Amino acid sequence: MRLLRYLSPYRLSIFTIIVLIFLQSLSSLYLPHLMSQIVDNGVLGHDMATIVQLGAFMLVISIVGGVCSIAASYFASKVSMGFGRDLRSKVFSRVEHYTLHEISTIGTASLITRTTNDITQVQQLVNMMLRMMVMAPLTAIGGIIMAVTTDARLSLVIVGILPVLAIAIFSILGRATKLFKTMQVKIDALNCVLREGLTGVRVIRSFNHGAFENKRFDVANLDLTSTSIQVNKIMALMFPLMMLIINFSTVAIVWFGGQRVGSGQMPIGSLMAFIQYVMQILFSVMMVSMMSFMIPRASASAVRINEVLETAPEITDPLDPIEERIDEGLIEFQDVSFYYPGAEQAALQHVSFTAHTGEVTAIIGGTGSGKSTLLHMIARFYDATKGQILIDGLDIRAMKQERLRAKMGYVPQQAVLFSGSIKENIRYGKAEATEEEIRHACDVAQATEFISQMPDTFDAEISQGGTNVSGGQKQRLSIARALVRRPRIYLFDDSFSALDFKTDAALRSALKPEILQSAVLIVAQRVSTVMDADQIIVLDEGKVEGIGTHDMLLQTCKAYQEIVASQLAKGESA
Ligand code: ADP
Ligand code: MG
Repeated sequence: MRLLRYLSPYRLSIFTIIVLIFLQSLSSLYLPHLMSQIVDNGVLGHDMATIVQLGAFMLVISIVGGVCSIAASYFASKVSMGFGRDLRSKVFSRVEHYTLHEISTIGTASLITRTTNDITQVQQLVNMMLRMMVMAPLTAIGGIIMAVTTDARLSLVIVGILPVLAIAIFSILGRATKLFKTMQVKIDALNCVLREGLTGVRVIRSFNHGAFENKRFDVANLDLTSTSIQVNKIMALMFPLMMLIINFSTVAIVWFGGQRVGSGQMPIGSLMAFIQYVMQILFSVMMVSMMSFMIPRASASAVRINEVLETAPEITDPLDPIEERIDEGLIEFQDVSFYYPGAEQAALQHVSFTAHTGEVTAIIGGTGSGKSTLLHMIARFYDATKGQILIDGLDIRAMKQERLRAKMGYVPQQAVLFSGSIKENIRYGKAEATEEEIRHACDVAQATEFISQMPDTFDAEISQGGTNVSGGQKQRLSIARALVRRPRIYLFDDSFSALDFKTDAALRSALKPEILQSAVLIVAQRVSTVMDADQIIVLDEGKVEGIGTHDMLLQTCKAYQEIVASQLAKGESA
């Protein structure tokens, strides 16, 4: 339970809880004693004054006990909720620093369950522990002491009951523990199906796979349900069994105690108090066992949370980052090779090139040739397996990631927008961008026209996942988001693919004056997009097949000729 170290900020509250519970336990142990006094001296002695006096005293003590108990619950909830909140934010910020590899290793669905459900499990256990951990042993031990002092011989009954109780608890616990662990895995599975069903809803509909997905969900759902039912059946057995044992104990105490009362060895009030003490002892044993029920479940969750917290991101900042002196945006690849983690085939092999400031470098190649990978390397989403990448003469691994990425305007292949207004989405690129800058970026990105047709123009809301704008509109907004940054390096990953030829051409000519001070890398499929670039890199299966201008490559590069020929045939090249 290494997670418990996150409780340390709440030391003071926890101490308060312990004090409160201590007082509550004392009061609940003292009450039966007072009661026996009332019965033996007041009722049997026909002494009204004693009854009233002791009764009032009992009332005061039970009120104090009640107040302590309420206050302890309040603080326990506060501490455990705060603990949960801290843990969630720890997990979230850790995941934010993960590289793409680590995220895919644990899995998005599992990361979500771990941040929500698993943390709730641990949080509940903490709450329970805070209230029970002090209370149960205190009342159990206190109860035993009080019982023995009340009547030592009758206390032998307790010695008889406790083993029975222990056996009952352990046999139930053992069976439930395993099931709890499998339950958490099944929640993950259900989550995964649900996520895929929701994000892929269009595909599912169009392929008429609704029934299939329903079945897949049912399987996962029923699987989880049957395990939960099994667990709950076992849990349900627990309470009646405990009550049975407790009631039998009461009968036993009344039986043996009655004989002692009959023979005058024990006052009747003491017998009543004794019954209460035994109840308290058994109840606290029960509480501890209830809590131990939660422990296996919560510790399964704790392990999963720890896994997230203790997976160190592969890509970290250097200990003493170098501050670059020049800021131009010069990119150099020096014999860079890269394998995705676990992949046998290199995604990039011996790639070397230089992209100068004020120039456009285009990258063309078939799908899977490593174009996106190449851009990811520059943004340091992954580190090169061999070779190095320099920006302004500095190895990117020697820079702070934040400094590195501040230089870039990256437009991903899959345009991603966030829920919020169009303005907010564009300010993602530069938080302090003025209205003027936003408008200008949208003009260049050819987005102004469709934005002005939206009901609230720049304040129009983008729905979650950007589903209320088209693919091409999304692309243009994400281009504007990169433009507003005015970065030294532009990375366009196939960002013009969803645009028609006219918009594509208009955008590229509007772009030209914008990027005079920057190095621009454009990944594209269409020859028309790359034709007028200063240099074109032709990629095939991660290898550079040729570097040069359009005319040069037409003469010398066979791979480029093939691409051009295949597009000419479709009438796309012109
Ligand atoms: P392109 O953008 O040119 O279509 P990519 O750079 O996306 O190609 O992919 C290059 C190669 O790397 C492909 O063979 C692809 O299967 C592989 N690849 C891409 N992303 C990953 C990943 N996250 N893990 C493992 N392999 C990957
Ligand atoms: Mg790609």
